[in-house]
Amino acid sequence: MAFDNERRIVADAGRRMFERKLTVGTWGNVSVRARDRCIITPSGKSYLETGPEDMIVVDLEGNVIEGRWRPSTELAMHCEIYRRREDVNAVVHIHPTYSSILSVLGEGIPPIMEDMVMLLGEEVRVSEYTLPGTEEIARNAAEALGKNNAVILANHGSVCVGEDMDRALTACEVLEKSAQIYFYSRLLGDPKVLPRDDVMELMRKARGYLGQWKQE
Ligand SMILES: [Zn+2]
Repeated sequence: MAFDNERRIVADAGRRMFERKLTVGTWGNVSVRARDRCIITPSGKSYLETGPEDMIVVDLEGNVIEGRWRPSTELAMHCEIYRRREDVNAVVHIHPTYSSILSVLGEGIPPIMEDMVMLLGEEVRVSEYTLPGTEEIARNAAEALGKNNAVILANHGSVCVGEDMDRALTACEVLEKSAQIYFYSRLLGDPKVLPRDDVMELMRKARGYLGQWKQE
């Protein structure tokens, strides 16, 4: 079967995402880019009951090339991000609690933690609300994502991206941790945001540090 390795990476990532409670039920979706193809999770299937053979191969316009099921309903969002960001090879869409609280409030996360800045970028923005599974949500998500590695989707959840699946999944965990820290620190007081110069320096350091991070 073509794209054996990529199919396995996507199926494993779906299981990890579910087991780490970054989503519930069959919500959320995962993909990787392989050359001019995207390998993505099927729509409405349990992450615990699907394997590499159930993953769907599409082109970057979203046309199905190979697959026994329908691709994820957020396929357009994955393709839009791959088309706009050449540095991105993995996309993970999740529905975790704390990022979702911020999504309901329409609040992004300012640069409050060093790991957040190094992995996710300058800030995490919230995309404009629109119904899921549409071309519009795909455009809104990609626009609000910009050059960062995470974006919160208004009244919905979030999307994290990375150069490979390991980084995209770690970005999901760092995003949810940052959202939790921001939520509680706002309850207790007035969170201090990192100075702009230091944010730029941390992002510069991250390029060297994360460049050494190889996928296993
Ligand atoms: Zn969703």
